[in-house]
Amino acid sequence: MTGTTLDDYTDRYARRVRGMTASEIRALFAVASRPEVVSLAGGAPYIAALPLDAVGEMLGRLGAEHGATTLQYGIGQGTLELRERICEVMALSGIDASCGASPDDVVVTVGGQQALDLVARLFLDPGDVVLAEGPTYVGALGVFQAAQAQVAHVPMDDQGLIPEALEVAIADLARAGRRVKFLYTIPTYQNPAGVTLSEERRERVLDICERAGLLVVEDDPYGQLGFETEAPRPLRARRREGVFYLSTFSKTFAPGLRVGWILAPHAVRDKLVIASEAQILCPSAYAQAAVTTYLATMPWREQLKTYREVYRERRDAMLDALDDMMPAGTTWTRPGGGLFVWATLPDGLDAKAMMPRAIAARVAYVPGTGFYADGSGSGNIRLNFSFPSPERIREGVRRLAGVMEQDIAMRRVFGQVDRPGVRRGRPGADTPGPDLA
Ligand code: PMP
Repeated sequence: MTGTTLDDYTDRYARRVRGMTASEIRALFAVASRPEVVSLAGGAPYIAALPLDAVGEMLGRLGAEHGATTLQYGIGQGTLELRERICEVMALSGIDASCGASPDDVVVTVGGQQALDLVARLFLDPGDVVLAEGPTYVGALGVFQAAQAQVAHVPMDDQGLIPEALEVAIADLARAGRRVKFLYTIPTYQNPAGVTLSEERRERVLDICERAGLLVVEDDPYGQLGFETEAPRPLRARRREGVFYLSTFSKTFAPGLRVGWILAPHAVRDKLVIASEAQILCPSAYAQAAVTTYLATMPWREQLKTYREVYRERRDAMLDALDDMMPAGTTWTRPGGGLFVWATLPDGLDAKAMMPRAIAARVAYVPGTGFYADGSGSGNIRLNFSFPSPERIREGVRRLAGVMEQDIAMRRVFGQVDRPGVRRGRPGADTPGPDLA
């Protein structure tokens, strides 16, 4: 050991660690969680909508009466009982035996997040490219970055991912000699954009990927949280092969249990289990028993309805408040389900630069840049409506509108608004940006 000391870690980091930085959301948590701040920044479900006493009693019994199994190790793939229940849950969305879904091909994971990590471990080499919606889930960006893969964004409009843009992206990357492994997509009630891939586009996206030899990783935590109509059937309900279906109980039951799953093509299920065992040995037996017992003994379909009703009311509160108070030039999506609205700020406003003023005005949001791998998104913000009450949502939007009005006024005074040729805060202006309004 010459020249370095043992508290000098930087030079020792693996290459994949070098790009690791705290996400925008993590960095914001400390301030956004102060009680005086209306946080529209998080993504937490409204757990108080659960029958917490009954769930608590159930959890107590799992330890007291079934501790010999629930506190023991289990098998890497997850218990058969839970995998069977998961198939019942998926059948509600149209993924059933008729399209080859079977408990045998389900791998239980530690939330949807481990499911993403497993798929990345299985398929991504350093330098590989993942195609993903722009914007996309911040936690997926972290996983792909850790795998030293690059993300190429494909723009969306209010019908979701644009198939023509997907074709262009695939052709461009092929021309550049890049290896694209899969399309990562959240087709239903997308996080963060709140848009849903239309029925007609689902087939086209699948056809395009099939023709290009791309796998599809379908991330679907929100599909059962639709407010008005049923969501279009998932991609996995339309294709048996080539589609990995990922979901979680985090939004439909409780994220604290950390239970998710992958429905994998049969040929790769074993590899997923081996990769998962290397990572975690096995998912928590206690958490799996909790979810299994919840699904077997409690009215989970009713609970889904309750979540939908609570979130629909909050979505409406947010859309009404935005309609009433947002400054001219602001646009936003009108989600049919899920937890988020994605807003585009008037030209010239920078979501990140505005953040300290928003916090000072006691409101928090997530700047759009967190949801892109390429620095785009500074003209966007993500707003969460699942956790705050309708009154807090309205108050939060009121405070946010005030901050935006102030920023607009300041920029007018200093002559920085609408300078021709200058698209402030949009570093990704050369690539097609999302037009989600
Ligand atoms: N995928 C998406 C699109 C998500 O929004 C989330 C959670 N916000 C996850 C995966 C991870 O969920 P989990 O809590 O089950 O790990």
